[in-house]
Amino acid sequence: MTDPHPHGGSTTVTGAPADSDRNSLSVGPDGPLLLHDHHFIDQMAHFNRERVPERNVHAKGSGAFGELVVTEDVSAYTKAALFQPGVRTEMLARFSTVAGEQGSPDTWRDPRGFSLKFYTTEGNYDLVGNNTPVFFVRDTMKFPHFIRSQKRRGGPGLRDNDMQWDFWTHNPESAHQVTWLMGDRGLPRSYRHMNGYGSHTYMWINAAGEKFWIKYHFKTDQGVKSLTQEAGDRIAGEDSDFHRRDLWDSIDRGDHPSWTLHVQVMPYEDAKTYRFNPFDLTKVWPHADYPLIKVGTMTLNRNPENFFAQIEQASFEPSAVVPGIGFSPDKMLLGRVFAYADTHRYRIGPNYHQLPVNRPKNVENPNTYTFDGPMAYDHRGDEPVYAPNSYGRGYSDLTGGVEDSWETDGEMVRQAYTLRPEDDDFGQARTLVNDVWDDDQRDRFVANVSGHILGGVKEQTLPRVFEYWKNVDAEIGKRIEETVLAGAAEPPAPHPTEPDGVLG
Ligand code: NDP
Repeated sequence: MTDPHPHGGSTTVTGAPADSDRNSLSVGPDGPLLLHDHHFIDQMAHFNRERVPERNVHAKGSGAFGELVVTEDVSAYTKAALFQPGVRTEMLARFSTVAGEQGSPDTWRDPRGFSLKFYTTEGNYDLVGNNTPVFFVRDTMKFPHFIRSQKRRGGPGLRDNDMQWDFWTHNPESAHQVTWLMGDRGLPRSYRHMNGYGSHTYMWINAAGEKFWIKYHFKTDQGVKSLTQEAGDRIAGEDSDFHRRDLWDSIDRGDHPSWTLHVQVMPYEDAKTYRFNPFDLTKVWPHADYPLIKVGTMTLNRNPENFFAQIEQASFEPSAVVPGIGFSPDKMLLGRVFAYADTHRYRIGPNYHQLPVNRPKNVENPNTYTFDGPMAYDHRGDEPVYAPNSYGRGYSDLTGGVEDSWETDGEMVRQAYTLRPEDDDFGQARTLVNDVWDDDQRDRFVANVSGHILGGVKEQTLPRVFEYWKNVDAEIGKRIEETVLAGAAEPPAPHPTEPDGVLG
């Protein structure tokens, strides 16, 4: 018999010395395997269960730990402990693509998730943002439809550009985000070279109870860098984990990426009369109206020890807020406040918040009445399981007004936001194309949009697509139409039945 435990050996899941990780138990060397080989059965059965469902959205991601250091004084706007001067808060970031599955290439054109979890002394604060300041739709009711249109068709299980444009043109409020996506920033050089935006409007409340509307901007200190479509396509084939590798390698070699956090602050009363709905997620607040106010610096300085435990099982949820921070009447935010925690209950399990990466580790004495259920680990012994109680276990009892409230009144309806003078679908997209970009950026944009349309948009969809872009800008729409029609006149080349490089 060889040494049964080289290097100290392994154990069974119950901690006893395991017999072998190399040979299953059989009747003679050539005979059948035995059901009572419980170590073998454990390995096989657990292997079948060692993935959790991938996120339906933002499935492919990468992450790292770090810290937020507040270098300025924004206490006039929020009492949140993590944003007080000089405070240093441990945090986790997860960056991701949106539509692709776990193994999809990092360099497909797609928005990027920019999710942050701050382990504050008042509870975990999650800011679940993107690398774009706006979004495709204004009402969460449309969200599942939007995501399905970006994923795969029911029949062949293929992604389908026609489906994407069909959805976008039926929902013209997408124009600003699609313009942004098809521009240079729609394909970042790396996760380190992109900005992060909270995108939604949130509420901040100061120690005096005064309320403000705010937007978060994390500006990359590495400088914004992007990839051309050609580079993205090439890298997708050469190294589908290009962005994951870049983030890991950079932190590993001590080159710690950082972002400077700024906020835009809108006085509470301004929102009632601002020229467009400031809670509309398809719009930015122009910097000229609400300039950026610096808050501090976020630095990523520690790679995960284990990707599955700390990144795949990380749960980010906009519902994780702390005192001094609230929501806003943004219909996308209010839907997300429900959806994220719920997806974690399904994906990871109802006690996902007990995992080391998700627990509120810097809160002195968490006292939740949410307990039991599958894989419960935290417990309070024999303390009362109900509230109120007369046995000393604390409970909460706020009655009446709430600090993070806003006024609302009216009948229940199903309709879009009330229109204000400058509420439209195309104006800010037009500003981006005409006032922010230069000629080279516009040229690449026309090429990116046209190439995408030529990648499978059906003839019947094309008139709506051209009208969409002409609504953004007559000239840019005309250029896209001409480029697409010229390209469509060429004999179709994609997806040859016999590609180059076939052997045999
Ligand atoms: P500003 O001139 O003050 O700001 C323009 C902003 O555009 C820049 O600050 C930069 O954002 C961003 N930008 C620069 N190049 C690109 C690009 N290739 N793709 C996307 N964004 C780019 O003008 P406004 O505040 O009035 O905004 C004008 C337009 O700029 C908006 O319609 C919007 O499309 C875009 N924008 C505005 C932002 C905002 O919060 N106001 C944020 C991002 C884009 P950054 O400083 O964040 O790098």
